[in-house]
Amino acid sequence: MNIAKTIEEVRSQVNSWKKEGYSIALVPTMGYLHEGHVSLIKRAANENQKVVVSIFVNPIQFGPSEDLASYPRDLDRDKILCEGAGANLIFAPEASEMYYVDAQTNVSVNGLTNGLCGAKRPGHFNGVCTVVSKLFNIVCADKAYFGEKDAQQLAVIKRMVRDLNFPIEIIGCPIVREADGLAKSSRNNYLSTDERTAALILNKSLNSAKELLLTHEKSAENLTETIKKQIQSEVLAKIDYIEVVDALSLTAIDLIDKPVLVAIAVYIGKTRLIDNFIWQSK
Ligand code: AMP
Repeated sequence: MNIAKTIEEVRSQVNSWKKEGYSIALVPTMGYLHEGHVSLIKRAANENQKVVVSIFVNPIQFGPSEDLASYPRDLDRDKILCEGAGANLIFAPEASEMYYVDAQTNVSVNGLTNGLCGAKRPGHFNGVCTVVSKLFNIVCADKAYFGEKDAQQLAVIKRMVRDLNFPIEIIGCPIVREADGLAKSSRNNYLSTDERTAALILNKSLNSAKELLLTHEKSAENLTETIKKQIQSEVLAKIDYIEVVDALSLTAIDLIDKPVLVAIAVYIGKTRLIDNFIWQSK
């Protein structure tokens, strides 16, 4: 399988596929692939004739004190995983290929980005929306696949596609977890053995919240408190946010009487991990 480094190479390959009438999928990633990414690629390969996986650690979505420099990278390993999952082309550009030094345009989605990770990572979603828009324009895929692990990102991209009439369908895919419940993430690689054990508190606290919801709990505050207490019991964990929001608007709610997104971001040592679930009240 070919690894395209330039926009021109991708366009030429995609154009020849389009002439043959093939349906094309895009799976945007930052690489250091794991089974979460693989599940997206496999689904894309099942539903489309050609799959392009982009691997790009997008500098403009990282804040100044975030982990851009240390973000794990291993293109050789990624290539093997992409091939195994049924991808047809990797697009792995350098930052200089993606961004003009005098670029003056970016894409921002308002409202949906006000809370959750948007509030904690200023500029993050502008960086995401800008790079995803560029990838959509470079690859011109019929469908693009994103994980529900990044629930706010998925909501933001869907809104951007609707608002700007991108001719692409966005498909959300379920969270893939380790056997012990930790959501798969390239950042899990940063965790020491003790931190890896401590990280289980994310999924555990969300499971406690689900149990409480099963008892017909309707108070968002009570739900938040339950999660908070659990996470605070883990000495290596530091809460970044715990949010119970309307699943569509992502705005804070008091009463759980419609679909809600329960989303958390927690530092385990220096590593920031996120997890979430969507609750549909009966
Ligand atoms: P990333 O490389 O972290 O930017 O992720 C690329 C895509 O993979 C995003 O759409 C993520 O939501 C998705 N993804 C990451 N981790 C998981 C996971 N554990 N389960 C499902 N999708 C995931």
